[in-house]
Amino acid sequence: MIDNKCKNCGGELIYDVASGELKCKQCDTIVDIPEQSANAVKIDYTSSSKLNTSNEEYAQFSCATCGRKHITPINQELHNCPSCGDCNLEKNVSVSYIPDGIIPFKLDKEKAMQSFAQWLRKRFWAPNNLKKLAKTESLKGTYFPLYNYDFNCHSKFSGVGVKTKTGLDGKSYTTRHKFKGEREDCFVNYVDSANATIPSGLLREMANFDYSQCYVYRTEFLYGWIGLDNNIDIHNSFIKVQQTSKQEIEKRIEKDSKYDRVENLICETTYSGVKYNYLYVPVWVNYYNYKGKVYNCFINGLTGKVSGDAPKSFWKRFFAILGLIAVGVLFYYLLG
Ligand SMILES: [Zn+2]
Ligand SMILES: [Zn+2]
Repeated sequence: MIDNKCKNCGGELIYDVASGELKCKQCDTIVDIPEQSANAVKIDYTSSSKLNTSNEEYAQFSCATCGRKHITPINQELHNCPSCGDCNLEKNVSVSYIPDGIIPFKLDKEKAMQSFAQWLRKRFWAPNNLKKLAKTESLKGTYFPLYNYDFNCHSKFSGVGVKTKTGLDGKSYTTRHKFKGEREDCFVNYVDSANATIPSGLLREMANFDYSQCYVYRTEFLYGWIGLDNNIDIHNSFIKVQQTSKQEIEKRIEKDSKYDRVENLICETTYSGVKYNYLYVPVWVNYYNYKGKVYNCFINGLTGKVSGDAPKSFWKRFFAILGLIAVGVLFYYLLG
């Protein structure tokens, strides 16, 4: 049973970034989160692995505009979509998957906004009025769902190595050698998104989540915050992880070979010691509307690292091109 009422005044308790405990919105009373333990451990992945479902009910808010679904504790309301600002949200009560672990927010809203403003200043091509469009109110602390894996890979590979050399006569000679070998690779904290609207590449780019700060999940961490729903099955995720990690291994084989490039590479990889857990990681989500298009920015809730898109100003680019043409014409007359 979710109990997010303050014993002192009846106010709403929310997870407080500064203390790492619950804090009453009205009277500032701090309440300890019970049985709080760090280090949600990874468990063995098998063909029958499945995620934990919750005994408590959570509310799910679906946004028809951007397609994202957000999860909150049952007695919490959400009036605007945290990803696009739409206010036509459909509320469902659903028992959904709960994460094994959670990395709570360390960066408060103000610091997240500072990181965002700094990032915007570095966007040279962004329109000048963008800073005004990006409002603090649209910044929402959202937990992103991901699978976090450790695994070992044994790979047998063969291919043709190509080397080009310049001979004494100044001509270039190409040689081809067949090669084969075996190698071991170990992947630790390899993350894969558990929400189809958030690409795994983006999560890896934002990464640097400190996985030693990963607590065993409790609903209290979500009080006053929101999570994105899980819509990718663990087994589909692991199929994808095998593909992407194999591509990574193939790149390593090419890099570690003594050849200029590699042709006809065949690589067979077997996976062992696969462990995983399903986590919530902290991300400040910002959206802004520019000329009818919604842009998202994501700020790592631990480090403040920003990833995302900024619109490019038409006029800045227009004058840059005009400037280049002018310089070209000038040189033509000076040198011509
Ligand atoms: Zn209170
Ligand atoms: Zn939306």
